[in-house]
Amino acid sequence: MQFIDLKSQYESLKDKIDARIQGVLDKGAYIMGPEVAEFESKLSEFVGVKHAISCANGTDALQLALMALGVKAGDAVFCPTFTFFATAEAIAFVGATPIFVDSDDRTFNISIVDLESKISEVQSKGILNPKAIIAVDLFGLPADYEKLEPLSKKHGLLLIEDAAQGLGGEILGRKAGSFGDIATTSFFPAKPLGCYGDGGALFTNDDNIAALLRSLQVHGKGNDKYDNVRIGMNSRLDTLQAAILLEKLSVFPEELKQRNQIAAIYSDSLNVRYRKPLVPDGYMSSWAQYTLQHESRDSCMAKLKSEGIPSAIYYGKCMHMQGAFSNLGYMKGDFPIAEKLSSEVFSLPMSPYLSDADGNFVIQTLNDE
Ligand SMILES: *Cc1c(COP(=O)(O)O)cnc(C)c1O
Repeated sequence: MQFIDLKSQYESLKDKIDARIQGVLDKGAYIMGPEVAEFESKLSEFVGVKHAISCANGTDALQLALMALGVKAGDAVFCPTFTFFATAEAIAFVGATPIFVDSDDRTFNISIVDLESKISEVQSKGILNPKAIIAVDLFGLPADYEKLEPLSKKHGLLLIEDAAQGLGGEILGRKAGSFGDIATTSFFPAKPLGCYGDGGALFTNDDNIAALLRSLQVHGKGNDKYDNVRIGMNSRLDTLQAAILLEKLSVFPEELKQRNQIAAIYSDSLNVRYRKPLVPDGYMSSWAQYTLQHESRDSCMAKLKSEGIPSAIYYGKCMHMQGAFSNLGYMKGDFPIAEKLSSEVFSLPMSPYLSDADGNFVIQTLNDE
């Protein structure tokens, strides 16, 4: 059994993907070929935003977003401590200071209560300039943007949605990738919408931000790439990856239904001793991961392994415990909920192509434990 079954997906799309790849090879437009613009247009339509700007990966997307919003040294950027490293890394990379926030115990996303308290703390200390929030759609579930959007406005903060795992999710019909001032995503192969290498994108409804992002991603270009008006990066989506993504995007809505069916079967059938993922009313998850919580995680994972079932831990170490952030002075115990999650969560095989037999075998194995 595969943890994420990319092979079955390729087999079912093989003819179309192969033809798309051959099309790129025939034309030879490897950088910014026509497939890139075609993909961006279909992606912006899918997400329901004015601009989708593709780039080299999800980490660059975060960095470009922060650069476009003018985030710099002396700024405080709030983000969850329970996330993938790139969220916090991008903040530090532009010279700003990540201010970590604890998790919501039920959704695993950024805690609104702790966020408010961390914002007041930074305001009252008066050393750093509170500038932005990066919320993460962890494991595919959109963060609580119904609270985050008004809260960021109230405090004069910019809001970035890190939808690297969230693409395909929704809140009351509004799609992940459409929240905040800028949203970012990743097409790393294991993400809900993945390519066959690295890829990423940014989303915004703001024409000025979109134009700035287009400049920043190509060496701060002005009229052309040999006219450089600002310091930027080199961050483009390969034409080959755009070609592959075009075919994958066309089946993505159907795959999301299948992901949700598999998640529903897991949630309905697994024993109550496993704490199952909560999807609040009106929300839809893209199920980047199906993640359980159990006090004896190690024995659950060992049982699965003994039956040949892969499982994985996302994430065993919070950001405030990472060596790279030791200079920030956080300590064990600073974020009790996130720390508990990091010691108790484990994720099950999840893919639109997971067979009923395999899904049932996972359930049976865990329920027998
Ligand atoms: C994967 C991921 C990223 C980074 O994406 P890459 O394409 O691997 O650079 C950023 N944030 C989160 C939450 C992710 O899961």
